[in-house]
Amino acid sequence: MRRYSAFAIAREGLRYHTGWERAWASPEPKKRYDAIVVGAGGHGLATAYYLGKNHGIKNVAVIEKGWLGGGNTGRNTTIIRSNYLQDPSAAIYEKARSLYETMSQDLNMNVMFSPRGVIMLAQTHHEVRGYQRTAHANALQGVATEWIGPQRVKELVPIIRLDGPRYPVLGGLWQPRGGTARHDAVAWAYARACSAMGMDIIQNCAVTGIETEDGAVKAVNTTKGRIETAKLALVVAGHSSELAGMAGFRLPIESVALQALVSEPIKPAMDVVVMANTVHGYMSQSDKGEMVIGGGTDGFNNYTQRGSFHHVEETVRALVETFPMLSRLKMMRQWGGIVDMTGDRSPILSKTPVGGIYVNAGWGTGGFKSIPGSGWAMAELVAKDAPGPLAAAFGLDRFREGRFIDESVAAGVAH
Ligand SMILES: Cc1cc2nc3c(=O)[nH]c(=O)nc-3n(C[C@H](O)[C@H](O)[C@H](O)COP(=O)(O)OP(=O)(O)OC[C@H]3O[C@@H](n4cnc5c(N)ncnc54)[C@H](O)[C@@H]3O)c2cc1C
Repeated sequence: MRRYSAFAIAREGLRYHTGWERAWASPEPKKRYDAIVVGAGGHGLATAYYLGKNHGIKNVAVIEKGWLGGGNTGRNTTIIRSNYLQDPSAAIYEKARSLYETMSQDLNMNVMFSPRGVIMLAQTHHEVRGYQRTAHANALQGVATEWIGPQRVKELVPIIRLDGPRYPVLGGLWQPRGGTARHDAVAWAYARACSAMGMDIIQNCAVTGIETEDGAVKAVNTTKGRIETAKLALVVAGHSSELAGMAGFRLPIESVALQALVSEPIKPAMDVVVMANTVHGYMSQSDKGEMVIGGGTDGFNNYTQRGSFHHVEETVRALVETFPMLSRLKMMRQWGGIVDMTGDRSPILSKTPVGGIYVNAGWGTGGFKSIPGSGWAMAELVAKDAPGPLAAAFGLDRFREGRFIDESVAAGVAH
């Protein structure tokens, strides 16, 4: 792989950009791999990358039914933060956030990580208590967050209205090194690095069946033929239950559409990310100038990847209370993704009842931020057939044993 650099851009500029090589290869599948990852979203690609980088397992295929990054990874609103309440969550999300800090250098591609800061607004007394508690928990966990009062919120977000008609802003939980990154670039960067290690990324290839023998995985059937493997990582977000069904077990996951929308582009108006959980909406401004707005999940299970008018209305109406200037903007595009929700709103990184099959799912509305940490932990689980410290608490057995990692408060709003 030839390195991207300022020098390379200058060189290619001089020769009309004729010398760039393809970022990743598109091979036909081999008959057998040491490990197969199903799903070329951020989590699947990061799993493959750390399998190679941290564990030396490079005879790996990543199988994707569509195009890489075309699932939730390319549909999210790119918020990155690690201000979670429970210790296992803070550990994995902070690991991920810290890997984002150096991702562009590590993967030699600009993923546009922008640690512009994230505020979670407190608009009820209940939220004030909740976020002050999270700030204390974060201090103990080594996650840099702080509780800030309304005046500091106003300094950070001049366009905000503090004395809204229903919910005045009472303060917020501020994570100065939270922010955003370019979602497609994260997928592309991992894909390029995997391909450079000799891994096969096979797009337009759906897994249609999973063969097992004596309680262990033997092969997958795909639209491009049968492929053998002894290790199979299912990393397919909203399709997790479907793939688990092919292997003969069930997952405690519900799939549901989550929607987002963007406004027309405007001049720079807000240089932090703001989340307003009570009125249920959140917003950041993209480099193009669009206000990127996220709403909530649909109230019923479904597999649609579409937006709907009632969500646009609900989300924008809620945000206009806190950001009155929004009422003057036109909304340009809306879309949806299928998110995978667990009961405790925490992910699953786990062995399964079938030997050699591992599942990484349940990131729900907030798994973009965790991509590098999740890939790191999942690769360790697959390589060693046992979870490491980051994944240990997220096993499937927690649902049987009642050891929930209850982040439902933190996941009260989609992000
Ligand atoms: C509107 C929206 C906004 C969001 N905002 C944020 C945010 O601001 N911050 C945040 O942290 N998170 C956010 N999220 C959540 C985040 O996008 C997801 O948690 C994350 O992208 C999941 O990544 P993934 O790699 O697990 O899944 P995906 O990116 O969905 O990848 C799974 C892949 O598996 C493939 N697949 C499925 N079935 C098969 C099969 N049978 N064979 C082969 N391939 C298959 C799919 O095609 C897909 O490409 C948001 C999600 C949505 C929808």
